[in-house]
Amino acid sequence: MGFNVLILGGTSEGRALSERLARDDRFASVVSYAGRTRSLQLPSTPHRVGGFGGVDGLASYLRRERVDALVDTTHPFAARMSAHAVEAAAVTGTPLLRLARPVWQPLPGDQFIEVADMHAAAAALGTRPKQVFLSVGRQEIGAFAAAPQHDYLVRAVDAFDTGLPRARVLAERGPFDFKRERALLVRECIELMVSKNSGTEATYPKIAAARELGLPVIMVQPPKLAPAPEAGSLDEVLHWLDAQAAE
Ligand code: NAP
Repeated sequence: MGFNVLILGGTSEGRALSERLARDDRFASVVSYAGRTRSLQLPSTPHRVGGFGGVDGLASYLRRERVDALVDTTHPFAARMSAHAVEAAAVTGTPLLRLARPVWQPLPGDQFIEVADMHAAAAALGTRPKQVFLSVGRQEIGAFAAAPQHDYLVRAVDAFDTGLPRARVLAERGPFDFKRERALLVRECIELMVSKNSGTEATYPKIAAARELGLPVIMVQPPKLAPAPEAGSLDEVLHWLDAQAAE
């Protein structure tokens, strides 16, 4: 019997961790996906798809599957899942570690307008109609209904109905490269970008392209997460798992 690890995924880090653990006989890991995206690319490593059913559902899963350690590698904006992980780990006594990513910091030339949430981002667009690039995810697009005067180019993994009067959806999955991001912003005459400050490497090229083109970026800061022990890198997570498995 290996040391059972449940990885809360939905990010490239979760996938990378499951691939690293699959090469180590001591571990048996399962990576979990919410199953929100239609074009979910499932890994070749063991996985499960779908919500657990709140804290109680996750706690039952941890007990039933005899999970020895829980690693939260969810996206920094997936605050509910991270909170459930903290609570379920506490009630079941399962060791928990969160992989935390540092947010993007402005570099010389960046024009970040930092806001707390999507509603503040919509307000920060101003009253004059503009060409706006939105790469904020499907779930929070509703906030921009309060600013219907802008032309939105919305990038998302799957096409969807934005409900906005002047919006086009570009269904694309990252990683994206700098040259293509720059070309897209120029071709679409983008004046302003809205982005979550996720700190994700795979989506950073749009920020670098905005910097080069002198475009302001309305940067939505990540929500405050429930406190949990954190690791700063995949290697740190692996060291922690080594120590847990050796106990
Ligand atoms: P969320 O608001 O924190 O979670 C909502 C619910 O979705 C959770 O209560 C849980 O349902 C389910 N869920 C979330 N992550 C799950 C996982 N890894 N495995 C099983 N169930 C999960 O999360 P979200 O913002 O909707 O994000 C959903 C997933 O997409 C996350 O896994 C995240 O890593 C990934 N993602 C999110 C973003 C983003 O900007 N939010 C961006 C890229 C990727 P139950 O209560 O039923 O267990």
